[in-house]
Amino acid sequence: MNNLQRRLQTYKKLGLKLTPQRLAILEFLETTREHPSAEDIYNALKERYPSISFATVYNTLEVLIEKGLVKELGLDSSKKRFDPHLHHHHHFICKKCGKIVDVERSFDVVIPEELREFEVTEFQVVFTGICSACKGK
Ligand SMILES: [Zn+2]
Ligand SMILES: [Zn+2]
Repeated sequence: MNNLQRRLQTYKKLGLKLTPQRLAILEFLETTREHPSAEDIYNALKERYPSISFATVYNTLEVLIEKGLVKELGLDSSKKRFDPHLHHHHHFICKKCGKIVDVERSFDVVIPEELREFEVTEFQVVFTGICSACKGK
């Protein structure tokens, strides 16, 4: 199955009406290495798809999140950012430009004493700092 067929099937499963704009949103999410906001996605697509609206981007994202196909990241306090990479991974966020980079390795963490009575199923490591591009400025 090629990528387009896979995207078509995804929307069919979600029960969403298929439009070229919606397909473009999935394609964008599949190919990006960034962690875009709804605005980023809208801005990236509006030139090629002049009929796309911000509402379409936003509503499509809502459905994708609800169905577990995209994760919402709470790392950027200025706006919601989205992560299409569903496997468990960690992040670095630049405090200056907001760039979020994936950190693909595992960390050994000692579960704190006060959490012993809980069942911890996952943890996230978030590095914050200044990215190389901002550091060079
Ligand atoms: Zn930066
Ligand atoms: Zn990520």
